[in-house]
Amino acid sequence: MFDKILIANRGEIALRILRACKELGIATVAVHSTADADAMHVRLSDESVCIGPPPSKDSYLNVPALLAACEITGADAVHPGYGFLSENARFAEILSEHNLHFIGPKAEHIRLMGDKIEAKKTAKKLGIPVVPGSDGAVGPDDDALGIARKIGFPVLVKAAAGGGGRGMKVAHSEADLLMALSTAANEAKSAFGDASVYLEKYLQKPRHIEIQILGDGRGGAIHLGERDCSLQRRHQKVWEEGPSPVLSAAARAKIGETCAKAMREMKYLGVGTIEFLFEDGEFYFIEMNTRIQVEHPVTESITDIDLVLEQIRIAAGGELPARQEEVQVIGHAIECRINAENPVTFRPSPGRILQYHPPGGLGVRIDSAVYQGYTIPPYYDSLVGKLIVHGKTRAECLMRLRRALDEMVVEGIETTLPLFRALVREDDIINGDYHIHWLEQYLAGKAEPAAK
Ligand code: ADP
Repeated sequence: MFDKILIANRGEIALRILRACKELGIATVAVHSTADADAMHVRLSDESVCIGPPPSKDSYLNVPALLAACEITGADAVHPGYGFLSENARFAEILSEHNLHFIGPKAEHIRLMGDKIEAKKTAKKLGIPVVPGSDGAVGPDDDALGIARKIGFPVLVKAAAGGGGRGMKVAHSEADLLMALSTAANEAKSAFGDASVYLEKYLQKPRHIEIQILGDGRGGAIHLGERDCSLQRRHQKVWEEGPSPVLSAAARAKIGETCAKAMREMKYLGVGTIEFLFEDGEFYFIEMNTRIQVEHPVTESITDIDLVLEQIRIAAGGELPARQEEVQVIGHAIECRINAENPVTFRPSPGRILQYHPPGGLGVRIDSAVYQGYTIPPYYDSLVGKLIVHGKTRAECLMRLRRALDEMVVEGIETTLPLFRALVREDDIINGDYHIHWLEQYLAGKAEPAAK
């Protein structure tokens, strides 16, 4: 096992990793920018190192500063959390060149899945169902129109290097296509430095369902069921739940086994998520994330498996925590991502938290790094905290979620709490009857009631 882990992240995920380290008896090193000197992860760690000024590129993405912090403190492993350097294959390699362990998958797998075109080809080869689309990148010499006609309109133009929903454009007709190709390519070039784009059939009312997997790197892998993350705004997940309200136990076992088998073949190491769109009973692979995800507590609640702790154990050469037949899905869990944003315009609302009261009670979990008097800096994401509720059934879970949301107090900044309080009372949500465009349609209706 590792002796000392450096946590190359901030906010709630840094705290989450710290908790796992404490339970494993591993010493912790927090790193922070000058803007985060008062952050909770700095206060609760055994040691801390300031690695630079507020902008992420000068601090949390500053590889030489992170290496120096490992050297000074004698850390033997680095946990990257999510975002920042978590899916940077080169970072994983640099660490190993310095005799440091990267707590994550093998660099080759991060690289493979980071390229969405290669990822899709690999998925197909491994027997995972994919969205119909172009065979690879669509260049200026390719007959994009011919390919799009074959797929059938509407089509989606996607960036090979995409992430966070950027570099994606829908073309509803042949006339739209050229424009969509050039805007997506330009956006991809400026956001990711890579202009390659590909085409995919645009699904009209799919759900987003993702499978959590865990591999030991030696050909062993299990799946831990699914999360339904269909409630999204601008391709950003807002509400995640598990199990999906629309998946049968048989369908779960089938897609789960397909994913686990693929991971066994790859000899995948660590935690990973295989994301699908789900429409008319069919799964279509969209991408694989090779890191711990924001919504991992949903799976932890329904399987009672500590994903971050297992991620660390597996990175140190440990065994998988269970055999597939031992994994059980118990009850239902929902996570709400509460952001420091105006609940109607979604404008970020950083600033000082004057009053803070997190909800509690049976089945209620808060993953957050804020406290009363804490100032949310404007430089990073706007997550205030994740509220995760567990119940024996979906109905019990919704009942608990309603009262937990009503109990929670965050004052001094604007938050999206009022949005969740409204959502949890909507019939479509209560009935589990929603798809990936539902939330934006709902919000458009709220913004312009006269147009209805
Ligand atoms: P990113 O890496 O930018 O998050 P993804 O491929 O995971 O990109 O897609 C993000 C979101 O975009 C999905 O959750 C879904 O809402 C939407 N999306 C992606 N592909 C399609 C598609 N073929 N049809 C319809 N919506 C899609």
